[in-house]
Amino acid sequence: MLNLTIHRGTDEIGGSCVELWNDNTRIVLDFGMPLVDKARNEFDFKQYSKMSVDELIEKSVLPAIPGLYKDDSNKIDGLLISHAHADHYGLLNYIGAHVPVWLGEATYDIIQLSGIFTPNKIELKNHSFFQRDVPFNIGDFKITPFWNDHSAFDSYVFLIECDGIRILYSGDFRSHGRKSKTMQRFIAHPPPDIDYLIMEGTQVGRNKANEKNEEDIEKELVKLFREPRINLVYTSSQNIDRLVSIYKASLKTKKIMIIDVYIAKILTTLSKYAKFPYPSGSYGNIKVMFTKYTSDKAAKASNNQMLYDFKPFKITKEEIGNEPSQYVIIVRPSFQVDLEKIQNLENGNLIYSMWEGYKSKADTHKFMKYLEQKGFSNYDIHTSGHADLQTLKKFADAINPKSIIPIHTFNKNDYSNIFNQNIIELNDGEVFGLS
Ligand SMILES: [Zn+2]
Ligand SMILES: [Zn+2]
Repeated sequence: MLNLTIHRGTDEIGGSCVELWNDNTRIVLDFGMPLVDKARNEFDFKQYSKMSVDELIEKSVLPAIPGLYKDDSNKIDGLLISHAHADHYGLLNYIGAHVPVWLGEATYDIIQLSGIFTPNKIELKNHSFFQRDVPFNIGDFKITPFWNDHSAFDSYVFLIECDGIRILYSGDFRSHGRKSKTMQRFIAHPPPDIDYLIMEGTQVGRNKANEKNEEDIEKELVKLFREPRINLVYTSSQNIDRLVSIYKASLKTKKIMIIDVYIAKILTTLSKYAKFPYPSGSYGNIKVMFTKYTSDKAAKASNNQMLYDFKPFKITKEEIGNEPSQYVIIVRPSFQVDLEKIQNLENGNLIYSMWEGYKSKADTHKFMKYLEQKGFSNYDIHTSGHADLQTLKKFADAINPKSIIPIHTFNKNDYSNIFNQNIIELNDGEVFGLS
């Protein structure tokens, strides 16, 4: 008998964790840090960071999964990570070294770099890489990872086969990013005969218009970059699609794109896997600004070599101050100390290019206020990392599973109004027998 439990994700976005098992084998899909607490306020891990595994299980921060934390007779045989967003991998430090973690190689690289430059440091003790489109086995389970389109590079949808039952786990996805074609190909030739589709529904119940694509974003950026003033773009350092849009818009408007060592390292590392612009002789209009926060982090983690590597592409604050309108700088709130040292940094464009919800964060608010006082004009240019309703429907109809199981959503009860397929609404922790 094959069983499924969604430990977290039936009623919330973030912190996804799914367990599948039969009599011989047990696997886990994703092991994410929650984004919200029980009252749906922002989840603050700091208040839990000193607690033991048992205490964290007691507080429902860690899912109660036997054999995941300690090596006992009923151990977990493998844990799959769909992509490098902390709401899918952020709790990995707690699992035992006996559990093999399976992930994409680029996903691993992104997680490692996040550990240097952000507070999310994950140490994997036992991991293996899967290859896209190449099936592999964990005990009785056969898994095939397919690349999908999402705001994290190297994101996967998993086909999972066991005991004659076929499950598709969507991961987080969309089809309006720079890998839109990958997704369209997948939809055109989907794996057949799916019994259960475990599908994310971030945008279910949000009643939003269809999403713009990255080319639209690029066009909007071009329009602003054409203006004879400095452009600051606040975006996620790991949203590679967006970084590419900013790069392309800079190239079209003959501007120099300035990034920090963190983004420089991300782009350089990921250029192994796909054709990305990164600081090098081949991409002359990318320069690296040595910001205090990033350089301190690199130095602390004994990564000084990283700083030397990007020295040939360095741009000084003085150079920027001499002709600010030549530049597009990708910024974060921690850069304020650096921006304060740039002469003539005023009356530019500040482009906010992330999920709107982050604007209420204290440091973001302070940073935007600072730039407003410097005469910057604010613009919002963004598109979601998640499929809009039209795309979700198209995906569900293409897969045409016997049943859809909602996950990564605040509105599972809306699925039955939207999709043509049978919907199985589960609760967190419920054991569901698959047949
Ligand atoms: Zn997610
Ligand atoms: Zn994600």
